[in-house]
Amino acid sequence: MKTIGLIGGMSWESTVTYYQEINRLVKARLGGLHSAKLVLSSVDFHEIEACQSRGDWDKSADILIQAAQGLERAGAQLVLICTNTMHKVAPQVQAGISVPLLHISDATADALTAAHISTVALLGTKYTMCEDFYKARLLERGFQVLIPDTPDVELVNHIIFDELCLGKRKDTSKRELLRIVDSLAGQGAQGVILGCTEIGLLVKQEDTPLPVFDTTLIHAHRAVELALEEKH
Ligand code: GLU
Repeated sequence: MKTIGLIGGMSWESTVTYYQEINRLVKARLGGLHSAKLVLSSVDFHEIEACQSRGDWDKSADILIQAAQGLERAGAQLVLICTNTMHKVAPQVQAGISVPLLHISDATADALTAAHISTVALLGTKYTMCEDFYKARLLERGFQVLIPDTPDVELVNHIIFDELCLGKRKDTSKRELLRIVDSLAGQGAQGVILGCTEIGLLVKQEDTPLPVFDTTLIHAHRAVELALEEKH
């Protein structure tokens, strides 16, 4: 089993899900008392969010590069950034380490391909929904990506940063997210990417008939596949 390195804390609410899901999957695969070999570097999200807000992505990249290098020194053989948004600096983080960085949108694209989805709704932070660093990777793979209109982009962003990242789970917000999902389904989306690692804390597959692609679960699942992959 390879050792998985997690850069977490963004927010820690969803890092909990990564830790649980990775261990659950390793146990399901190997049975008994097996659990994941894993190292975690958890950053202070206050600092990261401050960088995002002032557009200082270089500074946030430095913080994540240091975390990734620490994980590599601690024995990580593959590294995950446990947030979609901070994949904006994934190229810099990958350049700073010599083990592979498992990109969350590539893992998600593989899951969409396996499900024969071509048009997909994307929910996430305003950075993930409106900028290119994330969507472009999906477009390159041939997917059509639908995002909410501007007021709903703001609303989803607010639910993420002012509620979910602070541990608040509100029914009213869940209803709003499901309204947005319905509306994007009406525009042709065949599935929805929960492209923020906290959204799955509020919205689950059983809440909507549309196929749900929860990036936290997909990312964790792919990490375990790679960690347990047999080399011939
Ligand atoms: N965890 C969220 C994401 O997946 C948002 C927090 C962040 O800005 O990193 O994008």
